[in-house]
Amino acid sequence: MFESLQKRTVIVTGASRGIGLGIAKRYGQAGLNVLVVSRSLSDAEQVARDIGPHASGFAADVSQEDACLAMVQAAVERYGSVDVLAANAGIFPSARLGDMSVEDFDHVINTNLRSTFLSTKAVLPVMKANGFGRIVLTSSITGPITGYPGWSHYAASKAGQLGFMRTAAIELAAHGITINAVMPGNILTEGLAGMGEQYQAEMAASIPLRRLGSVEDIANAVLFFSTREAGFITGQTLVIDGGQVLPESSAALG
Ligand code: NAP
Repeated sequence: MFESLQKRTVIVTGASRGIGLGIAKRYGQAGLNVLVVSRSLSDAEQVARDIGPHASGFAADVSQEDACLAMVQAAVERYGSVDVLAANAGIFPSARLGDMSVEDFDHVINTNLRSTFLSTKAVLPVMKANGFGRIVLTSSITGPITGYPGWSHYAASKAGQLGFMRTAAIELAAHGITINAVMPGNILTEGLAGMGEQYQAEMAASIPLRRLGSVEDIANAVLFFSTREAGFITGQTLVIDGGQVLPESSAALG
């Protein structure tokens, strides 16, 4: 169905594990050249080897402007262009408000939100020159829709991505560039596994489809937003959460 993706080039940030790894693998299966980005070069290169010869690793801290520019330059040097950016890198350390330092807050905002701006800005010259681009952000239900104790900084960063996206969508439309966001619920990743089995069991029980999501659940939606066929969709969000945000109360789960 999506032949338009063949031979295109994608940059996936935060692709060494978790959701980003799932996204990078899905793009690789769909025939794109994949630049796998994380701060760890060895992790990124290992993922690229697993994807195949049309993938390669690159080390970048996407909260830093120079690193984002170097990331785009590497994709252009290796593959000739950049058609798609999956801005997925993110962290979710927990701290209640009373214990949260300014450094804690800034670290989360810089990694999750400033990186969205910097990586988007870095790909624009190439995408504008091509008159084509697809940018897909990994936001979250946490922040835009729900709340969870310990994640006020994280929630602000994820809601902030959507505010950024809506104005960027208007600015970029004239250049043939779309920008959309997926909003995962609780997805079983290494990061979430670290929250412990009790957290996972409680979350699964609160989801109408009675399971945590898989990285493939998110990757398939990200892939769709990246197609030529999705070209009339911009500034939009897709919640992928097994229905988690729907029940009005635990009684509504039945
Ligand atoms: P994860 O398993 O912890 O993976 C995070 C990825 O981001 C790793 O590849 C990590 O590699 C990279 N990363 C972290 N800081 C970075 C930086 N400054 N520059 C470049 N890369 C960086 O996390 P995940 O659960 O897959 O989450 C991925 C995204 O999904 C995040 O944006 C998160 O907010 C969102 N999300 C996750 C869930 C969930 O249930 N898991 C739900 C909603 C939204 P390095 O450490 O090597 O840099």
